[in-house]
Amino acid sequence: MGATLEQVEELQHHGLAVNGVQYSVIWYCCSDWTFLAMVYGLNSSTAKFFCIWCYCTKANIADFSIQDWPIQRTLEDCHKQCSNKTTEKRKGCVNEPLLSIPFDHVIVDTLHLFLRIMGLLFRQIIELVLNNGKKEVLETELERINVPFKFYEVQSEQGTTETKWTRLDGKDLHNILENLELKPIFNGVPATSRNEELQECKKAVEGI
Ligand SMILES: [Zn+2]
Repeated sequence: MGATLEQVEELQHHGLAVNGVQYSVIWYCCSDWTFLAMVYGLNSSTAKFFCIWCYCTKANIADFSIQDWPIQRTLEDCHKQCSNKTTEKRKGCVNEPLLSIPFDHVIVDTLHLFLRIMGLLFRQIIELVLNNGKKEVLETELERINVPFKFYEVQSEQGTTETKWTRLDGKDLHNILENLELKPIFNGVPATSRNEELQECKKAVEGI
């Protein structure tokens, strides 16, 4: 990738001449979270200093008293911080950034964020449904909102049976988020089990 990165740098600093006209080039870096973290030498999204842009820590997640999350990272700081010895001083920088596109031109792709968040939330519903024998109720509700979804059993070589379900794409998950009626699913679920799973659901939302 070295040659490509060199060209990116070259274009950023010197622009591009086409038929005698000089164009300046402003790069934006947009990709999913994992790739951005790798390219910028940052920790994974589950680390203490997880954020691509600021020094927010895991403990600050869901702290709605904080009014603003300005972009704090700079390429210069990343180069310095990655050689520090402690987590507090590294602030999530583990390697030097490979790109010199500044952080205010770094954009995480929202489809992947949405898929991950909705994947976690929908998984909570699946577990509630499986633990309470309500597979048919969920299938019926999803059919009602035109989401093609079925549970099915898979037999392993060891003879055990595992329940699997249809993988859903972004469009279907959007539809579920907006239209799925949860009442029939929760209906008749014992309060204790419901509470436990709702707590899990809450944790998942807070962990995002
Ligand atoms: Zn942040």
